[in-house]
Amino acid sequence: MRVEVLGVGFDNVTMDEAVARGMELLSSGRGEYVVTPNPEIVMCCAEREDVKSAVNGASMVLPDGIGVIYGAKILGTPLREKVPGADWALRLFGEMAKAGKSVFLLGAKPGVAEAAGKRLAGEFPGLVIAGVNDGYFKDDGAVIEKINAASPDLLLVCLGAPKQELWMAENREKLNVRLMAGLGGSLDVYAGVVQRAPERWQKMNLEWLYRLMKEPRRIGRMMKLPQFMICVLGEKLKGK
Ligand code: UDP
Repeated sequence: MRVEVLGVGFDNVTMDEAVARGMELLSSGRGEYVVTPNPEIVMCCAEREDVKSAVNGASMVLPDGIGVIYGAKILGTPLREKVPGADWALRLFGEMAKAGKSVFLLGAKPGVAEAAGKRLAGEFPGLVIAGVNDGYFKDDGAVIEKINAASPDLLLVCLGAPKQELWMAENREKLNVRLMAGLGGSLDVYAGVVQRAPERWQKMNLEWLYRLMKEPRRIGRMMKLPQFMICVLGEKLKGK
């Protein structure tokens, strides 16, 4: 059962359950995809029907940030825990490595996916890096051909939101992959180009503040968070 927050249905799963479900989809799925919306993406869904249908059409919708967790709680339908997409994928890589499964890394600036692949292969011996491609391609067809030739179990699609969600929904039928996951800036993190907040900040749910301090130009995007909270309170007052 999904928990609805402003029109987006989130899977009410723990991290362990989300990893187990990911492994199931990796053995039996065909062109499935996982999305990890934060409040900014939820607000985008409220404004754009195409994005909302791409997000809700995913096989798994994971609550990426603390904002979504607060929103669900305020609406009286709490989610069990936040499941940040970048952490979920690392847990999944651990399981995939044991099973000798493969991943294709798509997205980020030229050179970043290669660097991420090298680091992930070192960290998860047994995980097969089936291929990489940067996220600034013009010709979808050529990239789809390259991915299909590599035929990976998992495809990470890190093109930023909502581009990655729309891309996965549009191309799922053409791709010979079991599962995809739209993971925003995760390749930058895996490559070491961008640092995650220290664990203490993450535990205090202040990762957003750390990110804002490191990249002050994100302030415009982050203003979606108060808008999100106002909409959630509006829904609550309407008794929905
Ligand atoms: N990106 C891309 N192709 C594009 C636009 C963006 O590959 O056409 C990449 C960008 O280089 C970055 C990621 O998408 O690696 C988006 O990162 P951001 O931090 O904005 O994502 P978030 O995690 O906040 O969703």
